[in-house]
Amino acid sequence: MSMMEMGIAMSKTILVTGAAGFVGSHLCERLINEGHNVKGLDNYYTGAKANVSHLLDSGSFQMRRHDVAKPYWEQADEIYNLACPASPAHYQASPVDTMRTSFLGALHALEVASACNAKVLQASTSEVYGDPSVHPQPEDYWGNVNPYGERACYDEGKRSAEALFYSFRQERPLETKIARIFNTYGPRMQINDGRVVSNFIVQALNGEDITIYGEGNQTRSFCYVDDLVEGLMRLMRSGPEQGCEPINLGNPGEFTILELAEQVIKMTGSSSKLVFLPLPADDPKQRKPDIRRATVNLGWEPKVSLKAGLEKTIDYFEHALSVGGTVAKPARVTKVAASAQISLAG
Ligand code: NAD
Ligand code: UDP
Repeated sequence: MSMMEMGIAMSKTILVTGAAGFVGSHLCERLINEGHNVKGLDNYYTGAKANVSHLLDSGSFQMRRHDVAKPYWEQADEIYNLACPASPAHYQASPVDTMRTSFLGALHALEVASACNAKVLQASTSEVYGDPSVHPQPEDYWGNVNPYGERACYDEGKRSAEALFYSFRQERPLETKIARIFNTYGPRMQINDGRVVSNFIVQALNGEDITIYGEGNQTRSFCYVDDLVEGLMRLMRSGPEQGCEPINLGNPGEFTILELAEQVIKMTGSSSKLVFLPLPADDPKQRKPDIRRATVNLGWEPKVSLKAGLEKTIDYFEHALSVGGTVAKPARVTKVAASAQISLAG
């Protein structure tokens, strides 16, 4: 009987790019807890050393500052390519770098994987579906992306990375995986991350106005980070027959942004009021993953309800704000939809 059949995981050397980020830090922690040696790369653009400092004493974790848009070399059995700013406020602040990170970061991860015969997983995104006209979104939907707009640097950057993964597979015997990640939240998001869950919690805890972009009728499906990490690891472990096509990872529970705001206000007991701001350009109106492929191929489905996940996340931000001293303002997207600009001007 093999080690795997006996349920004993073999210790591997695993490279995680974007290791100091929100998802990356949770993934590194799980991998270390399962007995693997983990090497992290990050340029700290949106990540923080504090997210991984507790892992450095494990003896199984090394962290190196590096921009994945530049070539690098590491020996590894598996590579998770997570490096990329994920919040619209941050990826739109430096759009050319976002495209460089998305495409060149994927190219360099594939080249390293090719050279050391490692499995490689790309953190892709529900943004490849753009503002979807099919609902919920299955993996065979090609999407509705504006290639020449505010979100294009990220959406098209991630789409080009998927195309590169496909192209490598055509030319080389490489085992590649693509996870299309839907909105994920949890502890270790930065206070100024700018995404909706962290913004609303920070605003509610500070007693500030909750910033609803547009009318708040747009929907998102929110996945707790532990569920996502489980899905990423199952995808990496899957054989070529279960895991070569892109796979949606997300929680199919769908909420309007107004519903999320009301839930956060209720759970924090906040006196914050809602304030309505212009909708950012090309903001998708609805989003919900079809997760049948992940359920059938990986035996995966999310387990953490929005309420349970928010509880843990609110606890985290309460602590982060109390030790942080000064209260950071959440970041926001400043480029608004053309329709909103017109209606404001008129
Ligand atoms: P994050 O911004 O918290 O983490 C990204 C990390 O990548 C940060 O530590 C950042 O410093 C690092 N990074 C950025 N550019 C880099 C570069 N050029 N070189 C090296 N490091 C770089 O975001 P996250 O939520 O943890 O997202 C992780 C990955 O998952 C990203 O690729 C993102 O696109 C993808 N994703 C996340 C979500 C989500 O809801 N969290 C949804 C879809 C896709
Ligand atoms: N949003 C909002 N207020 C905020 C931040 C975001 O209303 O303070 C909205 C945003 O317009 C979008 C949704 O919440 O419709 C999710 O935004 P986020 O930036 O978290 O991720 P996205 O799914 O847009 O990439």
